[in-house]
Amino acid sequence: MATIAFNNICKSFGENQVVRDFNLTIEDGEFVVLVGPSGCGKTTSLRMLAGLEAPTSGRIALNNVDITDVPSKARELAMVFQSYALYPHMSVADNIGFALSLQKRPAQAIRAEVLAAAKRLEIDHLLARKPRELSGGQRQRVAVARAIVRQPQAFLFDEPLSNLDAKLRHSARVEIRKLQQQLGTTALYVTHDQIEAMTMADRIVVMEGGCIRQVGTPMELYMHPNSVFVASFLGAPPTNCIAGEIVHAAGSVQFRSDSLRLALHPETPRGPATLGIRPESLQPGEGSAVHLQLQGAVRFVEALGAETLVDLSIAGGAGASPQAPPTELTARLPGHHRLASGDILPFHVAKQDLRLFGSDGNVLVDAVAVTDRASEERMGDGGGLQRAVTEYV
Ligand code: ATP
Repeated sequence: MATIAFNNICKSFGENQVVRDFNLTIEDGEFVVLVGPSGCGKTTSLRMLAGLEAPTSGRIALNNVDITDVPSKARELAMVFQSYALYPHMSVADNIGFALSLQKRPAQAIRAEVLAAAKRLEIDHLLARKPRELSGGQRQRVAVARAIVRQPQAFLFDEPLSNLDAKLRHSARVEIRKLQQQLGTTALYVTHDQIEAMTMADRIVVMEGGCIRQVGTPMELYMHPNSVFVASFLGAPPTNCIAGEIVHAAGSVQFRSDSLRLALHPETPRGPATLGIRPESLQPGEGSAVHLQLQGAVRFVEALGAETLVDLSIAGGAGASPQAPPTELTARLPGHHRLASGDILPFHVAKQDLRLFGSDGNVLVDAVAVTDRASEERMGDGGGLQRAVTEYV
């Protein structure tokens, strides 16, 4: 059981600063996931906690005790590596019990603990085998069993599922999360897979370029991303990001793209901006005055059984150049829909589901002000559409 605190951690390799002012407190029993694109500094942060890398500056505390200068093996942390790092010449039983034998525990006690961990992971029938005689999923379980027998203060996971196929990854992430909850052990888990982050974490830490971009529960980050980066990183298919401009004209403030007009709060600063719309926020049908309404031409349909992904293009908004490229959006509709390429149909998005980001990529709070005096504006058919958008004025 442990609390963990990273305080102002920076790490450079030569001239290359790979972790910048990293501050994070992990509560006792919490499961925190570090997620971000390749090279953003996730593994380096985890390795500094494990004691496998030394921070260039800053301090790390475990249970409020500074462990920055404590050697790795004295930290009472168990790490599960992406490669599993099993000893090939040892049996599964010896691999699982290795740390206990280093502690000079009696052989009988080691055997009992190894068997208990192996039973928990359902690999007790494999104890006599060597790692090369195991499947990838079985090796991953051995690596987890080896971590739990140590009864560590915290588990550190470095992409432990990335070598498994998609089906096995799904069951393994459920098992790891259940196990961690049963044991109540604090965990820090590194992945570049946003689905693992969303499904496993109590809290997610999104990193980019060595910096923390946002910390929060999965739903906080999903519903309220603070930047285009976070909005695009979490969710599959990703958020539709529509590039445009915030324009102050004729007493109103609008977001304008090639295909959309949207009234904004009068104090919204002018300049380049991005409108974010989650695929599931695009609802078929006309909607009402409190919705952004648009007309989409179906380009491609993917029927997944339980849901349908529809690639749409919207084009030809008022004032838009006829040569303006159509805006491509993806809608995610529950259930099965009989749609075909070329169909034209109305969609709407609730005001609270629109996210507007400024020129720096950060969210503009309260920028979208929708009035009940919404008026529809007929558009020229631009890209072959009858009507492209509804304008709120
Ligand atoms: P991935 O998802 O690909 O594992 P990551 O987010 O975990 O990426 P890190 O492994 O922490 O990223 O690496 C961050 C940066 O630090 C990368 O640019 C990497 O090349 C660099 N780096 C990591 N370890 C070293 C090292 N020992 N020496 C020099 N540079 C390193």
